[in-house]
Amino acid sequence: MTDTAAHVLDPVGTAQGALVDTFGRTAKDLRISVTDRCNFRCVYCMPAEGMEFVPREELLSYEEISRLARLFVEDLGIESIRLTGGEPTVRRDLDRLVAMLAALRTPAGDPVEISLTTNGSALTRLAGRLRDAGLSRVNVSLDSLKRERFLAMTRRDAIDEVLAGIDAAVVAGLTPVKVNAVIVRGHNDDEIIDFATYARDRGVQIRFIEYMPLDASGSWSLEQVVSAVEVVSAINEVYPLEPVKHGAEPATRWRYADGLGEIGVIPSVTNPFCGDCDRVRLTAEGQFRTCLFALDELDLRHPLRSGATDADLAALVTKAVWGKWAGHRIGRVDFIRPNRSMSQIGG
Ligand code: SF4
Repeated sequence: MTDTAAHVLDPVGTAQGALVDTFGRTAKDLRISVTDRCNFRCVYCMPAEGMEFVPREELLSYEEISRLARLFVEDLGIESIRLTGGEPTVRRDLDRLVAMLAALRTPAGDPVEISLTTNGSALTRLAGRLRDAGLSRVNVSLDSLKRERFLAMTRRDAIDEVLAGIDAAVVAGLTPVKVNAVIVRGHNDDEIIDFATYARDRGVQIRFIEYMPLDASGSWSLEQVVSAVEVVSAINEVYPLEPVKHGAEPATRWRYADGLGEIGVIPSVTNPFCGDCDRVRLTAEGQFRTCLFALDELDLRHPLRSGATDADLAALVTKAVWGKWAGHRIGRVDFIRPNRSMSQIGG
C-alpha cells in the first residue's frame, strides 16, 4: 500500500486512473442499479403498495449507463460491475446492457467481471441469454425455503420460480451462484441449517446477510439482527466449518470441513468491513453514492445530459470518492438512516 501515501499528498487525492479516498481505500467495484422497480414486495424492503418510483425519463438509458461504466473502467480503475435494482430483470432487454458492459476492457486490456443481484424469479427465462451476453455470475436473494413464509416475506407466491431460477443459473454456468439470505430474528432465523443443507445439496454458495437499517418502513431494530457469529456457530454444530482467508469482499467465508463447499456471512452490523471497502454505487437515476449508507450523493445525470465531457465527469467522481467517509455508523448514537431504502440504492 506504500504508494497510497503518495496519493494522499495529491490535493484531489488520486493518481491518474484510481479512485482513492483519504483512508487509502481504492474503489474497484461499481454497483449499478438499473431500476428502482421490483416485482416483489419484501417486507424488510418495500411497503405492500410499493414506492413512488422514479419517472421513466429520469432513469438512465442503457447508453448513458454504459458511457459512465466505460469511464469508470477505462479511466478510474473499476474492475468489476454488479447490476442491481430494485429488481434488474424487470427492466426490458437487460441482456443488451450486459453485452455493452461485457465489451469493456480495463487499461490493461482485461475484461470486467459483470455480475447480477436478482430475486431469481426470471432466471429460468433469462439465464442463458444473460450468460451469452457476457454475464459472469449471479447472486440470488432467497429469504425462506418455506412456501408460506416466502409468501409472507415477499408478498409473492413465487418460491417455485426462484428455486427453478437458481437451478437454471447453475445449468447456464453463471457460477459460483451465490444465494443471499437476509436473516431476521423471529422471521426466518429457524431456517439457517435448512439454507446450509439446501446450498450443499444444490452446489451453490449461501451468503447470510445481517439485517441492515435500510427498510422502507423504518422498523429495523438491533434486536432483530442475527449476528454472523450466531450463524456460524449454529452451522458449525451440524456441519463443521473452517475459516477461509478474508479478502476485500464483504463476506467472511467458511469452508465445510467435509469439503462440500462453503458459506459466507456478511457482518455489516456487528463487524463492519468498511476499512476494506472497495465499492461505489450508481443509482438508477444517475446519483453517485460512495457508500450504501451515504447521506449525500453526487448527481451525474444532469451533467451527463448537459454536455459534460468525460474529464468533467471523472473530476466530479474523483472528488466525491476523495471525500468518502470512514463507514456507516450503525448502532452508534450518531447513526442517521439514509433517505433512501435498499430498493432505491441497489444491493
Ligand atoms: S457501509 Fe459503506 S463504507 Fe461500509 S462497506 Fe458498506 S458501502 Fe463500504
